[in-house]
Amino acid sequence: MKALLHRARAFGRRTAFESDAYLKLADGQYPEALVIACSDSRVIPALITGARPGDIFELRNAGNIVPPYGRPEPSGEAATVEYALQVLGVQDIVVCGHSHCGAMGALKSGDDLSALPGVDAWLRPARTELAPVLDAAPDDPALPEVAQVNVVNQLDALRSYPVVRQRLDEGRLRLHGWYYEIDTGSVYELGDDGDFRVHAA
Ligand SMILES: [Zn+2]
Repeated sequence: MKALLHRARAFGRRTAFESDAYLKLADGQYPEALVIACSDSRVIPALITGARPGDIFELRNAGNIVPPYGRPEPSGEAATVEYALQVLGVQDIVVCGHSHCGAMGALKSGDDLSALPGVDAWLRPARTELAPVLDAAPDDPALPEVAQVNVVNQLDALRSYPVVRQRLDEGRLRLHGWYYEIDTGSVYELGDDGDFRVHAA
């Protein structure tokens, strides 16, 4: 933590070298995309995309999960999606799953999560949705099939939001599914045929 704290304390001095760019950020944010990714420390959307401050609006949680629309309890996910679309006018949403995901691994192993009631409750809907693929997936710690189907499921959950459906219907929004392989850095993109592929740069 010491090194992180040290760099945080010096950050303002470092950014002073780019003062024009940083000063402009105070005028407002105009991000190109909302990226919904896992909280996993190895998955850094800005690093993967080369984004600069102001480029992407981020939502991160365990398992890159989007609760379906209309849940009665307050949801940071619902608030973030609404704000991204209705206030910031974001026209692209990426759901980015990844290999070696702890959340997907816990679902696959069927671990007893009673000591982690928050995690257990959070992952319960995903567990139900993923049941067929969890049973069929080989014992590969990367669990690519599980993580990729989870991305597809979360894109479906996004479509349950009226604001998302409306903008899709109007052609003002595009949804993207990504699978990030942490041991290679490869980004697999979900195609119209339902398969994830790496595209040449
Ligand atoms: Zn993860």
